[in-house]
Amino acid sequence: MTRTTSERPVDIEAAIPELSAYRGAGTRLHPRPGAPGPEHSSVGGPLLWPAGEPWPQCTVPHKRRFGERLSEVRTARRVLAGEPTEEEYELLRSFKRGRHAPWLTDTDPIPLLPVAQLYTRDVPGLNLPGDADLLQVLWCPFNAHGEERNVGVHLFRRRSSDVTEVLAEQPEPVVVGRAEYVPNPCVLHPERITEHQWGDLLSYAIRERLDEWEDWEDEDAVSYQFDLSIPPGWKVGGFAAWPVTGPQDVVCGCGQRMELLLTIDSREWDRGTRSWVPVEDRDAADTAANTPTGVVVGRNGRLMIFVCPEDWSHPHRTVLQ
Ligand SMILES: [Zn+2]
Ligand SMILES: [Zn+2]
Repeated sequence: MTRTTSERPVDIEAAIPELSAYRGAGTRLHPRPGAPGPEHSSVGGPLLWPAGEPWPQCTVPHKRRFGERLSEVRTARRVLAGEPTEEEYELLRSFKRGRHAPWLTDTDPIPLLPVAQLYTRDVPGLNLPGDADLLQVLWCPFNAHGEERNVGVHLFRRRSSDVTEVLAEQPEPVVVGRAEYVPNPCVLHPERITEHQWGDLLSYAIRERLDEWEDWEDEDAVSYQFDLSIPPGWKVGGFAAWPVTGPQDVVCGCGQRMELLLTIDSREWDRGTRSWVPVEDRDAADTAANTPTGVVVGRNGRLMIFVCPEDWSHPHRTVLQ
């Protein structure tokens, strides 16, 4: 099934034509629970990883003994998706955070967890350098990396035709720092959409006009930020949203302004962003359908991955909002 974002409730460029200079495009990924294979674009699915290539591991020194058992995270989700019996509830209550991998030192390599795999043929607007046609995103699921003490994101890109044999047994960590860093297997329904720049980055004159235009008395009224600017949910490219810190310059060490590659979102929509619920999901809008991946970053926030447009070998950066 495809996913279709409905027309915006208001044609804001008709009201404020200058906003056309701040129009952009992104690709909503619309992850939905499924059983993707290595040949599919996915979130949390098996990767098209060459049999002869070592699986990537985290070697950054940090504690990795303590957390939740990955197997228990998966069991709990499977059980809770149905109607649990009393025995199953009993089982779930026995699942606890703990020192589940006591044999691991703080520098033992641990396998990374697949987060997303995106084929350029499936995702309009995904441009990879050279002749790569496949982007693979993995992370180390512990809050222990970088200055922000976040997950450790790793990006790989490859030419899918180079992979003649796929690694059959894909390694996994035994323990994860947070259950919310384990993505449920999802298939994707990428959709190119139009969006507008984050409000704080508009010109002063346009912001003044938006202030006049918006009805601040009525909480159900159309809002630029929630309805007309940037859609919620997992997304490739497009504009960055800055609800927590306000806009930041994300600049590479080489001086280039970095580009937003991927947004990982804790929710596909919420109360404030209901106008973005795809037409096909309207009947399920009030259910847990808005959290298909099971991933939560920050406090129900977004994790944005930026890359250097000049040279992808320059370190990428992640920003949590
Ligand atoms: Zn790590
Ligand atoms: Zn750079």
